[in-house]
Amino acid sequence: MIFPAPHARETIASYGYRIARLSGLSSLAALVHLFDLDLRALLMGDRHSVENLARYTGCDPQALVRGALDASNPRRLQLGADPSNKVQCAPDRYRFCPACLGGLADGDLRSACLGRTDWLIDANHVCAEHGLRLMTVLPRKAARMQQDLSPLIPKLVAARAAPWQPGRPTALEHYITERLDGVHSRRWIDDVQLDVAIHTAEVFGAMAMRGPQGDWKGISADERREHGDLGAEVLIEGPAAIKDFLRTHIGHGRRGNDYHNAFGRAFNEFYFRKDQPAYRPICAVLAAYVGETFRFTGQEKVFGIRTRGVEPKTLRSLCNRHGIGLKITVQVLKAQYGLRVGIGASSEVDPDLIADLAPKLKDLLNAQDAARHLGVSVDVVRGLIGDGLLVPDYRFNDRMVGFSAATLESFLDDWCSAGKSPSGGQAIRTPIQTVARANRVKVSRLLIAARAVGGALYRDRRKRGLTGVTVSHSCMAALVEQAKTDASKVGLG
Ligand SMILES: [Zn+2]
Repeated sequence: MIFPAPHARETIASYGYRIARLSGLSSLAALVHLFDLDLRALLMGDRHSVENLARYTGCDPQALVRGALDASNPRRLQLGADPSNKVQCAPDRYRFCPACLGGLADGDLRSACLGRTDWLIDANHVCAEHGLRLMTVLPRKAARMQQDLSPLIPKLVAARAAPWQPGRPTALEHYITERLDGVHSRRWIDDVQLDVAIHTAEVFGAMAMRGPQGDWKGISADERREHGDLGAEVLIEGPAAIKDFLRTHIGHGRRGNDYHNAFGRAFNEFYFRKDQPAYRPICAVLAAYVGETFRFTGQEKVFGIRTRGVEPKTLRSLCNRHGIGLKITVQVLKAQYGLRVGIGASSEVDPDLIADLAPKLKDLLNAQDAARHLGVSVDVVRGLIGDGLLVPDYRFNDRMVGFSAATLESFLDDWCSAGKSPSGGQAIRTPIQTVARANRVKVSRLLIAARAVGGALYRDRRKRGLTGVTVSHSCMAALVEQAKTDASKVGLG
């Protein structure tokens, strides 16, 4: 007895059933019983069982492996030998091509094909071989793999009487067939799990047809098929084409940093699947696109992948990033480079320029901040600078100076630590600023005079800067006298 070879992608259930009937048995179960095989193991493509069946029929066991189904995964079906050919399928329907059934009605089981793995895939709607739309029958019992086809045969024959509709495979359907046939062209998408590729193609299509911000409700099966066709063409071309596609349909978002909003309805489709390893390659391309297109400071997790955004160009974000003051940077840009940049959120500057300036400006205080640090007015600070007691770290021009906190501290140590601590806290003292004001002498002059007189000042380190510096009453007259003499020598009041 000579048996026919299995059809391309024919399921083991279909082939086994035909062989059983051609052998004069009633069902696949009877054939399996005869061979002492396990039906479930055979359908799942167990090597030993497949080889046994192939030996009986005289066919190539490799041809049977493509029709193996693994239903042990409760969510999906594994088709054929390639572990990444996992697909979603609807268990309550059985789809078929009317032409593939051939002379089934007349009992001709030699050429008929009752089941193909590609019919199980929801996203596939045509028989690639005959160019016909698949038809649907409802099996008595919902199951992702129909083990016994006998009760289905009358239904299949009856359904086949309805008019046949022609249908050409879309790009996605064509690709699905290639995958099931084990064609691996070393394209990027060939390593992506099949159901992930299908889902991504459909989401991309929806992005293009309805827009990421549009309404995605009520997408019909035909529309979904169109979406899949469009998306598959992009996916097959690989990451560069995907980025071009995203550039067209997503762009860079409203302000260039809100990628969540730009992805619109497509965002959650990938965000909630980012932890599934199968979605990793897709998420990696999406994250790379976001990194090349959207602006954000530092690193951020984009679809679960650490990504560095495009370097921000706004002055505000650059200052934040380098840890330098916004106002002082604006002043320096104006004074040194003649650039007038606003402090508003949208003003942009050359990031390299700010990177060059940053080390100089880092943690630098302007005159106002320095005055606050010392606990005095800006005028007093200008007096201290004018008399050379306080030397700024950076002097951009007469009005603009910058101090590091260390410089201010060493100034206090140099000029204000003179003098002995008051004995028993009983000595009568007056803050140096009060003395200066009352005697119309500059604070800087009093500090210089204190060096000559000696022991007149006491600094209370618990108080801020110069507010903690006091003059003892016993030395006050001599100190003021000295200060006034110095001032008249240099012609200053
Ligand atoms: Zn067909």
